[in-house]
Amino acid sequence: MSESQNELLQDYKDNLLGVFGDPALVLTEGQGVYVTDANGKKYLDLLGGIAVNSIGYAHPDWVAAVSEQAGKLAHISNLFTSPQGISLAHQLLELTDAPEGSHVFFANSGSEANEAAFKLARRHGAAHLGPDGAPRTRVLALENAFHGRTMGSLALTAKDAYRAPFEPLPGGVTHIPATIEALEKELDGTVSALIVEPVQGESGVHALPEGFLARARELTREHGALLIVDEVQSGIGRTGQWLATTAQLPEGEFPDAITLAKGLGGGFPIGAMITVGSDVSSLLTAGQHGTTFGGNPLATAAASATLDVIKNEGLLGNADVVGAHLAAALKDLTEVREVRQHGLLIGIDLVQDSPEQALAPAVVTAAREAGFIINATGPGTVRLAPPLIITAQETDSFVAALPGIISDARTALAGS
Ligand SMILES: *Cc1c(COP(=O)(O)O)cnc(C)c1O
Repeated sequence: MSESQNELLQDYKDNLLGVFGDPALVLTEGQGVYVTDANGKKYLDLLGGIAVNSIGYAHPDWVAAVSEQAGKLAHISNLFTSPQGISLAHQLLELTDAPEGSHVFFANSGSEANEAAFKLARRHGAAHLGPDGAPRTRVLALENAFHGRTMGSLALTAKDAYRAPFEPLPGGVTHIPATIEALEKELDGTVSALIVEPVQGESGVHALPEGFLARARELTREHGALLIVDEVQSGIGRTGQWLATTAQLPEGEFPDAITLAKGLGGGFPIGAMITVGSDVSSLLTAGQHGTTFGGNPLATAAASATLDVIKNEGLLGNADVVGAHLAAALKDLTEVREVRQHGLLIGIDLVQDSPEQALAPAVVTAAREAGFIINATGPGTVRLAPPLIITAQETDSFVAALPGIISDARTALAGS
């Protein structure tokens, strides 16, 4: 490469829209759990492209599947279908154990999967009138929820800083606290759907409280509302099961819709919504929704290869075992206040001098200098979402380095 990393970063700044802030690095190669930057420096990636690179970088099976499909048939539009799209739908319905009559819609991102779910809720509200005889338009979402950045998914997202600049957003959404008490108070016959993340990722890895999802299932059924789970971040093995929902609902119970994206394509952009059972699957009819790219042969071949690798290499078990090992080691550090671990989705609250002290962002920078990629979800919280192939030894190298990294971060903060 002729340009240095700093020249490339300046070039980025001059030509790409600044919505992501300044990127930290220019990355040029990835192999397994390691990525390399434009200066040739190698990093252990404990973030995995934000819970996306589930099978690591350049997995040979994924590379073979994508290369072969690219040479055969990449895109066809949804006027046609392909064996790859049909086959991925089968795989998803099987691994989620979805009941008879369930169907799959393919999109290209998490936001788009949630847009589809929002539209599903509107159709459900129109088909199941409220107590006043009018279509139900209310949707309940949770405080601290993150469902995406497009207008509809943003309306479901809670964070005011993301929402405020873009109002008015699609209406009818109420954000309630993630408590059973709030649920019992707010869920009634005016509600068309409740959407929740079983484990909130962007808020710093917070699982729903004990019993919340089971109660939500009872109440949504009682009042005729849909239960939608956003498993865009928590799904596809991230928490040690195909769906995080499974650990939170009684056996045999299902949500009405499940949205997926991030880890599904192993790095190839793809999203999906699973509609559970035949009633919910008939709410959106021909012409009511669509996407040009959704479910094309290339994307679905990439996702199928990803699911096969997760299955064949026992990565659900690995997420459980290595996640627990990593969390136990982190809890032993005096610099760590709390660890929330669900498979390989881990939130770490650091010991701060004050709640405002931006220690976590400084730790992210210091970690990068030490050769580790992690990220911060708040001033005192670090998130880890490494590839599901990561080994205990690899995580040990991070834990061993972390006290020094935190000390470097504190020095940097003191000097700034
Ligand atoms: C990342 C994320 C989204 C948005 O996905 P995009 O692919 O960025 O549109 C939605 N919901 C959850 C829970 C997420 O983590």
